[in-house]
Amino acid sequence: MRQDFPETGQILLAEERQGEAFQALDTGIQGTRKFYIESYGCQMNFSDSEIVASILSENGLSPTKDVLMADLLLLNTCSIREKAEETIRKRLKEFRSLKKNNPELIVGLLGCMAERLKDKLLEEEKLVDLVVGPDAYRELPNLIQTVDEGFKAVNVFLSREETYSDIAPMRLDSNGVSAFISIMRGCDNMCSFCVVPFTRGRERSRNAYTIVAEAKQLFEQGYREVTLLGQNVDSYKWQNPETSDVISFAGLLEMVALVHPDLRIRFSTSHPKDITVQVLTTIAKYENICNYIHLPCQSGNSRILKLMNRTYDREWYMQKIEEIYSIIPDCAVSSDMITGFCSESDEEHQDTLSLMKFSKFSMSYMFFYSERPGTLAAKKYEDDIPLEIKKRRLNEIIALQNQLSSIHNKQDVGKKFKVLVEGKSKKSDEMWKGRNSQNKVIVFPADQDNLVGKYVTVEITDSTSATLIGRRV
Ligand code: SF4
Repeated sequence: MRQDFPETGQILLAEERQGEAFQALDTGIQGTRKFYIESYGCQMNFSDSEIVASILSENGLSPTKDVLMADLLLLNTCSIREKAEETIRKRLKEFRSLKKNNPELIVGLLGCMAERLKDKLLEEEKLVDLVVGPDAYRELPNLIQTVDEGFKAVNVFLSREETYSDIAPMRLDSNGVSAFISIMRGCDNMCSFCVVPFTRGRERSRNAYTIVAEAKQLFEQGYREVTLLGQNVDSYKWQNPETSDVISFAGLLEMVALVHPDLRIRFSTSHPKDITVQVLTTIAKYENICNYIHLPCQSGNSRILKLMNRTYDREWYMQKIEEIYSIIPDCAVSSDMITGFCSESDEEHQDTLSLMKFSKFSMSYMFFYSERPGTLAAKKYEDDIPLEIKKRRLNEIIALQNQLSSIHNKQDVGKKFKVLVEGKSKKSDEMWKGRNSQNKVIVFPADQDNLVGKYVTVEITDSTSATLIGRRV
């Protein structure tokens, strides 16, 4: 499809450039053209921005953290809730003056909002020149050239193969201690409230050996923690084309754990229907695989879980929690909760509160239901819970979680933990900040040594609902 926008020239969809040999971006003086990326949403998006930065720098552009220096301004967007998209639209308004001062400035939208709205975004947001979905980042240099020639450019093709496994991410805003490694892309679950399957496509797992190689490289560069990322890491499954051996998530965890005992491994996000006993026993077997699991439950009521198409019920989730605590007794579990889902009654809301108490979550991400266009729920169910009830239920869930987090942290007072130091505390330069295996933030008085990237033992002397306070021993 070709559309003419008189004041902005023509859209040239990427596939029309397919097959055209790609020339190095004509930047005049090599390496002067600067790109600026702002990332929103989940860890997957932040990890993708590092892939994008790598592709652009491979093609002669260099990163800048100063938006005023940018020749190419990219927003890596999120679409999980209406609010996330509103944030992007507001940000675009703030960039209007930049384009006025620099008409050559290219503005591009990446990520899930780009994938969800596609070229409609060019009509809605005149400032935007480039719309690129999560599977089309390799095409960026081509698309930028298209814009250089006066066209608007769009590529929102969703792939069944793309994992960017051969691209070494450029670490952005990194503390040099912990890094993300994306192990798979897409999601085959069809939770009725979720846009991800539409914005990130079908599941595909990355070659396990490229993941291990990336972890090794990061360790050699001084990183001491990696987080393995996927929408649903438990369904990771990669078949070795040479040997036909199939590597599961438990198998991959073990392979990464064997890189080096001082390389800590975290992972996100798990799915209650797919997490296996093998994964739990592998976590228990290796000290460097963290005793922390993020296990979204979304609701505590089986009827609502069915409407959400989560494919498990309340009893299944509680059984998974019992399994986790029996195999890894000091494991910390966090969760995601959506309150006020279509037709949720007060009793059903109480089920969510009681499931939280049963699960003893150390922390959670909590939201009220935000209907997303195109999702199963938007098509089938009325968003019938009034906003004030959604907000009241959300406040009850947040209040309960704060209690649970306080109790969880109070129980750590007097204990000693192995802490990986990430840097100084945001609140005070006098304090070091790090995390223990349970993913809890721990602060302790800073002495002379530079402890960034080091493991130290900290005895906990006090706690709040968000932080453990201690002293180095
Ligand atoms: S598991 Fe469900 S909530 Fe998570 S990304 Fe997939 S569809 Fe969305």
